[in-house]
Amino acid sequence: MVLPVVAIVGQPNVGKSTLFNRIINQRLAIVEDKPGVTRDRNYAPAEWLGHKFDLIDTGGITWANSNIEEEIRAQAEIAIEEADVIVFLTNVTNHVTNLDERIAQMLYQTKKPVILAVNKADNPEQRMDIYDFYSLGFGDPIPISSVHGTGIGDLLDQIIASLPKDISLNDNEQISFSVIGRPNVGKSSIVNRLVGEKRVIVNNEEGTTRDAVDTPFKTKDGTKFRIVDTAGIRRRGKVYEKTEKYSVMRAMGAIEHSDVVCLVLDASTGIREQDKHVAGYAHDAGRGLIILVNKWDLPKKTSNSGKDFEQTIRTEFQYLDYAPILFVSAKTGQNIEKIPKLVQTVYRNQQQRIKSSVLNDLLLEASKLVPTPMIKGKRLRVYYMTQVSVNPPTFVVFVNDPELMHFSYQRFLINQLRENFDFTGTPIKIIARKRK
Ligand code: GDP
Repeated sequence: MVLPVVAIVGQPNVGKSTLFNRIINQRLAIVEDKPGVTRDRNYAPAEWLGHKFDLIDTGGITWANSNIEEEIRAQAEIAIEEADVIVFLTNVTNHVTNLDERIAQMLYQTKKPVILAVNKADNPEQRMDIYDFYSLGFGDPIPISSVHGTGIGDLLDQIIASLPKDISLNDNEQISFSVIGRPNVGKSSIVNRLVGEKRVIVNNEEGTTRDAVDTPFKTKDGTKFRIVDTAGIRRRGKVYEKTEKYSVMRAMGAIEHSDVVCLVLDASTGIREQDKHVAGYAHDAGRGLIILVNKWDLPKKTSNSGKDFEQTIRTEFQYLDYAPILFVSAKTGQNIEKIPKLVQTVYRNQQQRIKSSVLNDLLLEASKLVPTPMIKGKRLRVYYMTQVSVNPPTFVVFVNDPELMHFSYQRFLINQLRENFDFTGTPIKIIARKRK
């Protein structure tokens, strides 16, 4: 599940978005069938020769009232914090500019691989004209033309070669989860409780770069977990969380890299608009989801407080009806030890595979309970159902006419699945296909 991140950085107008789109389209041609994940225009999955990664166009993030200087600084910071590999993009027709040098200065501070690409090298003369760029100090510049597509393959080869060597292969047994939420809900306090205060961010001698932002830990029973983007959670007052746009992007990055997402709410403030934005992203990504109500030590409680709060959550986040809710306090430690267990349960549920024979028994039973919908005199006929993937569990239902698969019937089938199997914490997708 864990994908490395590649960020494109460069001064305005060097062609970052064009390159971004080029690389993304490369992938769209290959993979098109991943169901509905909301994507930011500046953050998208990419693939080259079977290697998958997430791509960020840092220049596409707009910063209110900032000048160029601040903007490139912010871009560089994002790239340095967020990425496993940085593509530093320049423009051959400009030669090396002051801004390029400024960006280079900032990128010297990272140990991450930086690949220097020189864009707008549209013809052979321009492709030869890249020697200036050695002065930036990032080794061989790669001439490319994002518009014509030349050199992009070389650049992608280089990116792939620089990606951290395997993030996911040897951590089969590890369950990745993230702790997300708006500022001050207590994310870092929860993480600290989980892994122990003393454990400093990371001292990452050998592992992959991804390790530098993630924190692995083991529970007493030996189950291995990895909290995604712990560095981002703990590093406060920097770019992180300063702008809503960036904090959302960061949350999306964390979600992408997680099997299970813990959405933290603050019991002392109640639910805010920003909680809903973050929740929406988690839901759209199709990951397992747990809602943690933190600071449960604060509200004055009556016997109904828990129920009331739960009711409010269910009303405000109707689409998250599958997510279990856990009341915790990072301050007193209440219920914190239950988090890993719950993450593990949700993880197991989202990996669950149901045999087609069992599903078809369920369909039969379901058809006895509720008649299939009829639209304009035509009745939906459901022939059979099969599970096509896990994480999230996705089912294809073969029918006479997919148009007749009304939302409410789909909902009904999902509920039937939930009643018969434990899918707590995981969204379920149903796709109607016409039987051939
Ligand atoms: P983050 O921005 O989401 O990472 O939030 P922090 O972990 O930095 O916490 C924000 C503030 O809430 C800090 O002052 C914490 O001490 C406080 N806090 C966090 N969890 C709890 C809790 O369970 N109970 C109480 N009373 N305060 C908490």
